[in-house]
Amino acid sequence: VKRVAVVGGGVIERDTCGSQTSAGNAGWITLGLSAPIPAPGVVQKTLPWMLKPGSPFRIKPRIDPAFLHWLWRFWRSSRRDRFIAGLHATLRLNAQTWALFEQLHHELQFEMHSHGLTLVAATPHCLQEYAELLEIVVQEGYAGSVQHIAQSSITDFEPSLAAGLAGAIHLPGEKHLRPEDLTSKLALDLQARGVEVLEHANVRALDLRDGKAHAVQLADRKERADAIVIAAGVWSTRLLRTAGFSLPLQGAKGYSLTSAPGSVVPQRPLYLIEQRLGVSPFNDRIRLAGTLELIGNDLRVDARRAASLKVASRTYLRDGVLGEPAAAWTGLRPLLPDGLPAIGAIPEHDNLYVATGHGTLGVTMAAATGALLADAILNQAPPEELRPFSPGRFVRPGKHAARRP
Ligand SMILES: Cc1cc2nc3c(=O)[nH]c(=O)nc-3n(C[C@H](O)[C@H](O)[C@H](O)COP(=O)(O)OP(=O)(O)OC[C@H]3O[C@@H](n4cnc5c(N)ncnc54)[C@H](O)[C@@H]3O)c2cc1C
Repeated sequence: VKRVAVVGGGVIERDTCGSQTSAGNAGWITLGLSAPIPAPGVVQKTLPWMLKPGSPFRIKPRIDPAFLHWLWRFWRSSRRDRFIAGLHATLRLNAQTWALFEQLHHELQFEMHSHGLTLVAATPHCLQEYAELLEIVVQEGYAGSVQHIAQSSITDFEPSLAAGLAGAIHLPGEKHLRPEDLTSKLALDLQARGVEVLEHANVRALDLRDGKAHAVQLADRKERADAIVIAAGVWSTRLLRTAGFSLPLQGAKGYSLTSAPGSVVPQRPLYLIEQRLGVSPFNDRIRLAGTLELIGNDLRVDARRAASLKVASRTYLRDGVLGEPAAAWTGLRPLLPDGLPAIGAIPEHDNLYVATGHGTLGVTMAAATGALLADAILNQAPPEELRPFSPGRFVRPGKHAARRP
């Protein structure tokens, strides 16, 4: 394989590199919170949230057979055995993640911090729930340690937290990075190594013949390739459809608010459990990130939704953490119904690959995905760690994997 065309992923890019979901996210490299979203009881837990205005989850009800099928698969994936298998596979895929990011950081010098991640609960019930979840995460192979912070020491441990919280759990091994800095430095580094990075290059179609991918079609020309990787986030579905392959991605919309730091700066990233809200302190910015909305691929900023992030943080944070004004941003997490990414070869095609569906963990899994998929392409066989993420799991039994166009 000599020439690989990567659609999205910061290589052949419709807009500018890293301008979509990989821009305004929280930037956590979190293995502790890497459990698949469809977890046991998730449906029962989230249904009441749907009715509450300002809650972190929202579904726009719609009579769309593809969406209804997606919801049904999501519900089936929340079975305990599937959840545990997904968590185990995710931790296994990420076995080298911290080391890979250390190496990347050493080479590219992007903004990255190793202050761990602190989970904060306002209620004893949610604290207990996450303590139990983390026990399972440890059992399934989490390599970091888990420290329980007593209620009486919370504000000594993290002075930006308000008084009166139920408790906190600190994961000292976790890291976070400034996502915009990572993607811009990666793009520059790729170019310095001789990779052609094409911006404002919309891939309109794939040139596929006899089960082989030959080129990507841009507005004005074709780019020939020995292998093609579709890493176009939620927009991957449309391109894969041209290869006769149906990948059931939904955009899980999230919001962030970014501002200059206020008068109180958290020493580490914080996860505000009940509100499913992240707080990321960066060198010269502070970011709140959260909400998960299944409302179609709609990137508009709803000012009330964006403002709800700040409201939701009030119980947990002292006044003055977020500065003014705060810039609102939205992104679409590419989410598959089993909560796991699709990484690997498209069935019935020799040299067409996909890397998407990373949901809430696209930053976390990026380095491992890249390293393992490169292996799969160069050796023409998937490494063991990628097997649970095979795109072939979405081929319905009895159906042809893909029609050869
Ligand atoms: C609020 C929020 C907070 C988050 N926080 C975290 C976090 O802390 N840690 C974590 O691990 N993950 C986090 N995530 C998830 C993470 O941001 C995503 O999983 C990840 O960014 C997805 O990356 P991607 O490259 O697959 O998609 P994208 O970043 O959306 O990139 C796809 C790219 O493909 C391009 N493209 C699409 N179609 C075409 C085409 N036809 N031709 C050319 N280019 C095309 C698009 O322009 C886009 O740039 C968060 C997400 C949100 C919304």
